[in-house]
Amino acid sequence: MKVLSQRVTKINESPLTKWDSMVKSKGKGIIHLNVGQQPDFNVLSVIAEAVKKTIKTKGNNHYTSINGTQEIREAISLFQKRVFNMEYNTREIILTNGAKEGLFISLGALVNSEDEVIIVAPYWSTYLDVIVFFGGNPVVVNANENFHLNVDEIKKVISAKTKAVIINSPNNPSGAVYTIDELEQLATIVADNDLYVISDEIYGTIIYDSEFCSIASVKGMKERTIVINGFSKSFSMTGYRLGYTLSSLEIANAMLKIKSNSTGNTNSFFQKVLIEAICNNFDELIISCNQMRTELKRRKEFLCGSLEELEIEYIIPEGAFYVFAKIPSEFNVKSKEFAEHLLVDAKVAVAPGIFFGEKFDDYIRISFSSSVEDIKRALEKIKNCINKKRVI
Ligand code: PLP
Repeated sequence: MKVLSQRVTKINESPLTKWDSMVKSKGKGIIHLNVGQQPDFNVLSVIAEAVKKTIKTKGNNHYTSINGTQEIREAISLFQKRVFNMEYNTREIILTNGAKEGLFISLGALVNSEDEVIIVAPYWSTYLDVIVFFGGNPVVVNANENFHLNVDEIKKVISAKTKAVIINSPNNPSGAVYTIDELEQLATIVADNDLYVISDEIYGTIIYDSEFCSIASVKGMKERTIVINGFSKSFSMTGYRLGYTLSSLEIANAMLKIKSNSTGNTNSFFQKVLIEAICNNFDELIISCNQMRTELKRRKEFLCGSLEELEIEYIIPEGAFYVFAKIPSEFNVKSKEFAEHLLVDAKVAVAPGIFFGEKFDDYIRISFSSSVEDIKRALEKIKNCINKKRVI
């Protein structure tokens, strides 16, 4: 048989989804602190009510415009304005199948073969593989020692082939929330070198003590930036697959060409659900988001406090719901081996740091979106596992 496409042989399945399938195959009794969702939160009640209401209405079974109905794009425009103070008209918005599709069509619209795209490590691994899928070359720049933007390092790697920079704030896995000052510095470099920015803002509503700022809001950056966002994390509905892009009309039209020939429109029923929730119950929706964030903050504080007791180094997350923590030095193993050890010995699943960049093979990512009880049980087991080593 002839070999499959070079494009597909050059990329890997997402290490996080592969790892999660492996963890799930181990059966019951495992505490899952490896996942990028909120297993202990139901979808926000406002959304659940909107589902109930929408199911009773007729006519939600047809194709819609590829970018979503006019009403859903108006709802997203309203959401962006009221939550992030960002103004986009309905032609600059595309409703996508999760933020993941937004990333895919963004890179599809920007990347020519051999183009370089800068990504900041630690990074969400999908960036790397999608760049490669479209024939581009990822150029990895490490974040600074506080896991924030290292703008000077970004400047150093820009070449004639550089097309775009991908940033992700709040960051998965470090939780870093980039400051306006950092974003302005990056914006200057981007404009000076005529680049684009893909700004993944999927955790934008989950920030603990600082303020969210989008690079698209920096003067002159709106037309150079594709914002990737969605409702997976903010409304705790990862499985419903609802995301969106915000960009210039020109880029939106380019992305629509890919979407119209691939997934077509995003689920029509859920478009109606979102319209109902955002347009008719906005205040309640925001209250629920805030309540979820308050609860996540409680979990974050609990997890961070427990890691301190265990003398495990970690980065204080400013946003999102992960703690990126150092593997205790006694172990002297790489991150996958350590995570496998925790899985077998403690029955606790975490994500190995290597999934987020080569430099992070001495880290693990622990999600604090599980219940405090689960986090407590997991830490007790991790403690036993570490103590065995420390006694030896
Ligand atoms: N971007 C980042 C940084 C993520 O962590 C994730 C999911 O974990 C996504 C995008 C994908 O979001 P969605 O589930 O809406 O496709």
